[in-house]
Amino acid sequence: MVPTSATRLFSGAFGTQPSGTWSAPGRANLIGEHTDYNDGFVLPFAIEHRTRVALGSRDDGVVRVISTFDENPVELPLAQLDEVFPDRRDEIVEWARYPLGVAWALLRRTGATGVSGVDLAFASDVPVGAGLSSSAAIEGATASALNDTWGLGLDPVTLAQVGRTAENEAVGAPTGIMDQMASMLGRTDSAIFLDCRSLDARVIDLGFADAGLDLVVIDTNVTHAHATGGYRERRASCEHGASVLGVSALRDVGIDDLPRAQDLLDDVTFRRVRHIVTENQRVLDTVRTLTEEGAASIGDLLTASHASMRDDFEISTLELDAAVESALGAGAIGARMTGGGFGGAAIALVPHDRVDEVRAAVASVFAASGFRAPTVFTVTPSQGAHRDG
Ligand code: ADP
Ligand code: MG
Repeated sequence: MVPTSATRLFSGAFGTQPSGTWSAPGRANLIGEHTDYNDGFVLPFAIEHRTRVALGSRDDGVVRVISTFDENPVELPLAQLDEVFPDRRDEIVEWARYPLGVAWALLRRTGATGVSGVDLAFASDVPVGAGLSSSAAIEGATASALNDTWGLGLDPVTLAQVGRTAENEAVGAPTGIMDQMASMLGRTDSAIFLDCRSLDARVIDLGFADAGLDLVVIDTNVTHAHATGGYRERRASCEHGASVLGVSALRDVGIDDLPRAQDLLDDVTFRRVRHIVTENQRVLDTVRTLTEEGAASIGDLLTASHASMRDDFEISTLELDAAVESALGAGAIGARMTGGGFGGAAIALVPHDRVDEVRAAVASVFAASGFRAPTVFTVTPSQGAHRDG
């Protein structure tokens, strides 16, 4: 096995060699924002940044986890996972709820008994809290490693669902399933076109390299205090809109239904609904455009998505708007904020020879505006979760 920092952490902390290593990537979302919990469409891709886990079995039924984040191991008998999750999760240090929550969700889902104890050591190069889903990466790595080690035979979509259960119930974060699906199913140079209602997933060729394009992430390094409250409020508006319109989810409202929606809804709810309805259509249009014309033609759809989040969904920030505008001004063919909003990152699709200009333009606009310096880097559509060694 090639030594990785996960195997080094493992042998340093546990004094033995692991029996294998697995990894799962973070993700970026090309388009389809806040559509996931409305049963709609999203188009994320896995990135090259990954979380690796080294695993060794133990014969005492105990699960022990350690991460480069926090070098104190956390351990618990597998038989006690059920007592801790979900009600007593506060007794577990927050980061360890992710891997222990995955073990709990896997055992609950499969009803497996008599599985071996495990030692797990994690090392990651996925930036945390930058909207690239380090949480899905640690869940996907854990789920893949345990699925193989315990011989559970679950498919990648089920492992994604297990990751989501862990995040929702063991960690307590109300997220959709997009991140886990992208991390499990990602393919090199491709995005995952996901129907969040049926969980049908199609691999869509992105062809960024052939089109001479780079996907640039601009992390504003700002998260606003009301991000969680803002997210909940938007979800509540969408549910309210759906119930007034008599549908189970806004997925069932089409562009043609918008005039009727405008008559029935108050202005704010209507604009929230319009974002979801038009964003779903933009995902479909992006998939069609990628397939028929190629990546060089999707820029306006990305930029329209940003305008909709800024004006209708009202989740952008001055920093995100500045990131998008300065990237476009320096030659990006399209740009949008990505993630839940109220801070976080924007993405820009940029001709390869304009990346340095975009980087410089964003840095100078941020400095002139008195914003915190952003972090700007490119990401490459990459392979999803797998066993490494
Ligand atoms: P993100 O946008 O990066 O997914 P989240 O808040 O959803 O942000 O998840 C980040 C949290 O996931 C971290 O604060 C930590 O608790 C946990 N986490 C992610 N990666 C690791 C890792 N390699 N080791 C330990 N904990 C991790
Ligand atoms: Mg996350």
